[in-house]
Amino acid sequence: MKRIYLDHAATTPTDPRVVQAMIPYFSDIYGNPSSLHSFGQEARTAVETARNQIASFIMARPEEIVFTSGGAESDNAALKGIAYARREKGNHIITSAIEHHAILETCKFLEKQGFQITYIKVDPNGLVDPYDVKKAITERTILVSIMHANNEIGTIQPISEIGKIAKEAGIYFHTDAVQIFGHAPINVDELHVDLLSASAHKLYGPKGVGVLYIRKGTKFTPFLHGGDQERGRRASTHNVPGIVGFGAAVELAKEGMVQEAEKMTSLRNKLIKGILDSIEDTRLNGDPIKRLPSNANISVAYVEGESMLLYLDMEGIACSTGSACTSSSLEPSHVLTAIGLSHELAHGSLRFSLGKFTSEDEIDYVLDTLPGIIEKLRTMSPLYRKETR
Ligand SMILES: *Cc1c(COP(=O)(O)O)cnc(C)c1O
Repeated sequence: MKRIYLDHAATTPTDPRVVQAMIPYFSDIYGNPSSLHSFGQEARTAVETARNQIASFIMARPEEIVFTSGGAESDNAALKGIAYARREKGNHIITSAIEHHAILETCKFLEKQGFQITYIKVDPNGLVDPYDVKKAITERTILVSIMHANNEIGTIQPISEIGKIAKEAGIYFHTDAVQIFGHAPINVDELHVDLLSASAHKLYGPKGVGVLYIRKGTKFTPFLHGGDQERGRRASTHNVPGIVGFGAAVELAKEGMVQEAEKMTSLRNKLIKGILDSIEDTRLNGDPIKRLPSNANISVAYVEGESMLLYLDMEGIACSTGSACTSSSLEPSHVLTAIGLSHELAHGSLRFSLGKFTSEDEIDYVLDTLPGIIEKLRTMSPLYRKETR
């Protein structure tokens, strides 16, 4: 059976060219980049090359790039690193209601430590109003953290405007850019960000390696101790193959991301239109325009997301319901409820996320397969019969 992967927001396949770039760094060039001998220095050179590639991609300086184990670590390090460094100045942090769990759970943890968190509400398209951020700032505010693009509904936030507000108030600004990094140009100065999180496996790089950009001069308390790697900002021996792979993935993104985005936008629009036209009582979630080219999040009334997902999987189609991290819990997605969806509609939502290798044939196959599945599930749904009788 043919299998179609439409879950690129959860993770992407590692590009074979990235794998090729990584291979020498397992068994041939295996030195520890912190070692002074030539084995170590060869590995160090590779790490610094990747650092330069990533820095230039976001118009940062190489020394502002800290390698981490992934997006979740970068988010944790950004929030805790600023909270601990700025404790004297204040204890208030502003974020949004639709952040990734790596941000929201870290905020909950910080609340237990005596920090106060404001969760900015979003509009029905999932947009944060920069003016709401401005109004939430107090004397005690030390950090604003708003994600660049949402992982569930794809909405892209006005990061530059929010960054400007934070900057004018003299407050650090962090953005979780994991979903957009490598898919659209990023300029840390134009966005006015002081910290930015990214993860290689969301842009055809390997899993388990991320980056935290920390603007020069930012007060930051490290949370991994025990080594002076990364200028004392993160201990632990470098994941050299992973870092090399991240650099290679960024180089491929520089070349291809604009055309890939164009191609995905048109396939994505075909998918959305096809579903909304052929299946009644469906709606698109997230902003129709300000959204990731890869993302189609659709609510289907009267059916369970989980059932649709399993039936689609039997037909070889992989997507997700809500976020990959929330699909094992019974609570509906916090993002979908934040944009005003009822619990039922939130539970009946599917996220299709396209990738650079997605073809039109695959989209056509989904459009041929999905209506039948939903029809079957709806005839079994007591809700559907009751309301349409
Ligand atoms: C995937 C993701 C993360 C977590 O990144 P990992 O590298 O998987 O830890 C954080 N934030 C967003 C928005 C994501 O999509």
